[in-house]
Amino acid sequence: MTGIGGRTAPPTDPAELDAADELAHFRDRFVGASSPIVYFDGNSLGRPVAATAERLSRFVRDEWGGRLIRAWEETWMEMPTTLGDRLGRVLLGAGPGQVAIGDSTTVWLYKLMRAAVDHQQRSDPARTEIVVDTDNFPTDRYLAEGVAAERGLTLRWIEPDPDGGVTAEQLAAVLGVNTALVVLSHVAYKSAWLADGPGLTRLAHDAGALVLWDLCHSAGAVPVDLDGWDADLAVGCTYKYLNGGPGAPAFGYVATRLQGVLAQPIQGWMGAADPFTMGPRYDAAPGIRRFLSGTPAIVGMLAMQDMLDLTEEAGIDAVRAKSLALTSYALALADAWLVPLGVTVGSPRDGARRGGHVTLGHPRSRQVVTALWGLDVIPDYREPDGIRIGLSPLSTSFAEVHEGLAQVRARLS
Ligand SMILES: *Cc1c(COP(=O)(O)O)cnc(C)c1O
Repeated sequence: MTGIGGRTAPPTDPAELDAADELAHFRDRFVGASSPIVYFDGNSLGRPVAATAERLSRFVRDEWGGRLIRAWEETWMEMPTTLGDRLGRVLLGAGPGQVAIGDSTTVWLYKLMRAAVDHQQRSDPARTEIVVDTDNFPTDRYLAEGVAAERGLTLRWIEPDPDGGVTAEQLAAVLGVNTALVVLSHVAYKSAWLADGPGLTRLAHDAGALVLWDLCHSAGAVPVDLDGWDADLAVGCTYKYLNGGPGAPAFGYVATRLQGVLAQPIQGWMGAADPFTMGPRYDAAPGIRRFLSGTPAIVGMLAMQDMLDLTEEAGIDAVRAKSLALTSYALALADAWLVPLGVTVGSPRDGARRGGHVTLGHPRSRQVVTALWGLDVIPDYREPDGIRIGLSPLSTSFAEVHEGLAQVRARLS
């Protein structure tokens, strides 16, 4: 983006940016778009798509209310995989039969970590280490600790720059003949560091390790190409940039080549070959279905479909371009208005290494965020001193970025 940048240059007029934005009209298709709320947390809980209200009521009336239990056979049983295929095609660069929806990200992480380390240990008992970084999301770190304790494995910690993220050099330094699994976020939840997906995957593979990618902060905002990366395993949320609603079920990806050799630890009836045979012993379903466990949350899979529709219509590359324009604008405003007030920038300045949000640091961040919420300006606070500005591309305007950061400035002046 031209015209934005210098620390002292007056920031570009947001009205001009909105007028030039070819995706601007999508914003009207979200609930609350005409309210004065400034929403900087679409990366934590996306706004509802307006079409979702009608989808939910149609579901209650016609599908659940009309088809009743018959709908399980008609559509619901297949939804985890049909919707998974669609998500894979539209956003993840995943060919069919590799993505399923269900459970939470936390549960998927557990299942895939366990499956991966057990497989690695069976092939080579010397592979006793799980690599994880100190800035990864808490649930990822806690699960790695738990799985390591459960299986007698060791954690190898990478300590990234808190304003950046895991680099190839850092990963190379901890990989070795003992590495079983590497657990990484594609976009870091605090700094927004965008890791090199294909590069880090290749490094890990060269050392004989598997990689589990957490895509919570990338799916829907940053293009992902799992098959192109030769990825092994991935998980991600659908209530962030996929606007699936609070607690919407997560997705898991298992590359086709691994599906037959991985055994997941929560072997429930929904992952069995024929759930309604109700046989005496577990016999895993073929393909990605074996990674399911219990009854899938059908109601939770409704809303994300409306966001998939919008994202497919806009195209993920255009969504990414707008995301970069929004975060660049936020950085320009921060430089002009906030850095002189003692704010630090805790996200990469290089757009190629930045996901969809920007984190700003200030000792009074917690109080500032509390005050802003009372004024209907909604970023979030992240320890130790971060104001996280999440900019969901299709539902956020440049005017909103301008207004929100002006309010941050007013709280700090
Ligand atoms: C939001 C987030 C999660 C959340 O997991 P849940 O099981 O949905 O609570 C996990 N990992 C990352 C990187 C996240 O950003």
